Amino acid sequence: MNIQGLQKLTLLDYPGKTACTVFTGGCDLRCPFCHNSSLVINPPHESAVSLDELLSFLNKRRGVLDGVAITGGEPLMQPDIEDFICLIKENGYSVKLDTNGTYPRKLSNILKSGCVDYIAMDVKSSKENYSQCVGIKNYDISKISESIEILKNSPVDYEFRTTVVKGLHTDSDIEGIGEWIKGAKRHFLQGFKDSGDLIGFGLEAFNKETMLGFRDIMLRYVSECEIRGL
Ligand code: SF4
Repeated sequence: MNIQGLQKLTLLDYPGKTACTVFTGGCDLRCPFCHNSSLVINPPHESAVSLDELLSFLNKRRGVLDGVAITGGEPLMQPDIEDFICLIKENGYSVKLDTNGTYPRKLSNILKSGCVDYIAMDVKSSKENYSQCVGIKNYDISKISESIEILKNSPVDYEFRTTVVKGLHTDSDIEGIGEWIKGAKRHFLQGFKDSGDLIGFGLEAFNKETMLGFRDIMLRYVSECEIRGL
């Protein structure tokens, strides 16, 4: 595992849990609005936090924390991610995994392992606009479609989520995402925030009124849609 960061406490990253967050290095996408570009573009080969350090931290926090959120970068890029997730689970923690949906086979295996409790999958935009939003020309969306279907048919709790950015997303993209994930139980619209560590530049957030309009559109397709980061 290439672990590039450990946030020792989060009340936001794992819905309903007091958790810590593990950041993995590397990602196969280049979303312009990515707020962790230093984890995505040429991350160090050496882990910043060793597995032993992480396990020792988890041992000490047992009873204080109840969950571990694994994010990136793209965690499913890690060759040993399946064993890692099960190791955390065996240590008595609930596990939440963030993914961009580009590794459907690994996602399916992890869901079948019974070691993961919650998945948050990004659906970056409509099919037509995916390339622009992941920063890769002619991006093949078939793996994203596969991951969406896998999650919708899994008994494990999950959410789809979309960070929306002025100039990149329109009403019609929200319609397109809604059609794509139709019947899903939960979707989050996330407001764009400039972390100072972005891949792109010149990006802006939508105002509250537009975000509420996007939510109205999304609610035609999914049972729950909430807004984060307004
Ligand atoms: S926002 Fe995009 S580039 Fe950044 S980690 Fe997520 S999938 Fe990778």
